[in-house]
Amino acid sequence: MTKKLKILILAGDGIGPEVTAEAVRALEAVAQAGGHLFRFEEKPIGGVAIRSHGSPLPDDTLKAALESDAVLLGAVGSNEFNALPPSQRPEAGLLRIRAELGGFANLRPSFAWPGLTGNSPLRSDVVEGADILFVRELLGGLYFGQPREWDKQANAAWNTMRYTRDEVIRVAKVAFELARKRRKKVTSVDKANVLEVSQLWRATVTELAPQYPDVTLEHQYVDAMAMHLMNAPRNFDVVLTENLFGDILSDEAGVITGSLGMLPSATLGGKVNLYEPVHGSAPDIAGKGIANPLGAILTAAMLLRYSAGLEDEAAAIEAAVKHIVADGARTADLARGDKSVKVLSTQEVGKRVLEALSSRMAAR
Ligand code: NAD
Repeated sequence: MTKKLKILILAGDGIGPEVTAEAVRALEAVAQAGGHLFRFEEKPIGGVAIRSHGSPLPDDTLKAALESDAVLLGAVGSNEFNALPPSQRPEAGLLRIRAELGGFANLRPSFAWPGLTGNSPLRSDVVEGADILFVRELLGGLYFGQPREWDKQANAAWNTMRYTRDEVIRVAKVAFELARKRRKKVTSVDKANVLEVSQLWRATVTELAPQYPDVTLEHQYVDAMAMHLMNAPRNFDVVLTENLFGDILSDEAGVITGSLGMLPSATLGGKVNLYEPVHGSAPDIAGKGIANPLGAILTAAMLLRYSAGLEDEAAAIEAAVKHIVADGARTADLARGDKSVKVLSTQEVGKRVLEALSSRMAAR
């Protein structure tokens, strides 16, 4: 069935435009092969938007985002604006668009790519076969709870970790549903031995579990989980966490992948889904054509899966990435200074993905 999709491209700063261009090419290839109608619109965000509009998130960009079916973001951030207060810097545009779109479920896969397991600081035999999907609650918990304050006179500061039952239910449902399509296991992370908010979290997730009898639920304390992730990452399928724990654990699990440039993400549940690679604007390598585009390309695959329902096409992109990585395609971050490795440019890696993708699409 032909899919029609209005996709807003927010390439942003630094390597954002370089990697996003390759992700868009992959989406165009999918549209062409399947007769889908993807309409792309581009708007500024971050440092480029400050330069052109005097704001890191111009009204016009936000309006276009709210009117689109999906937003694909590159990265924001530029050293040029380091002297500005945080609320006027490029990153403020990203925080605001996330809040305005309102997604509460942040999905971050961590996958041990065959051929790249040697890049992880963990032993290959530990990471091989690891395939974890983090579902992190994004709008609640310590980052948003009130009261919060740094009382300088009292020399004291406090934040509040707060969740309602409904907030836990809506994100837990996302985790259970996704687990159904994977290896049917949810690991819910909390600190229920100490925190009341975690007791509510655990009780709510446990109460929901019988609605998903085909999914196994286990609970882990966050401290133990930090250790298990490194000792036995293969034991995990979908990992459900509140905001702060998920922030920390998903970064930790990122080492399984071997490079920040390989990590995609999606934020679901709001007015419009937001898709962005995990990495930043990497000013140290921007403009050199050497950034790894695979995180952005894998982010495009998530967009196809969660905003277009094009599961086969998403899987085809992932299979193409798997193929070229196993075949030795490497940007500099993946070559890790090994002189015997032929290092490819951002565009060359993008082209390899397209070739592998088109042969997969043609074979269907
Ligand atoms: P970063 O992710 O930009 O870079 C960290 C390191 O990883 C750098 O050495 C960089 O060269 C490398 N790297 C990152 N992505 C890569 C890729 N695709 N291919 C190859 N190497 C890659 O993080 P940072 O240096 O802490 O931040 C730089 C700027 O990006 C800052 O302004 C920061 O605020 C911003 N930032 C934005 C986002 C976002 O847009 N989502 C996320 C993190 C940081």
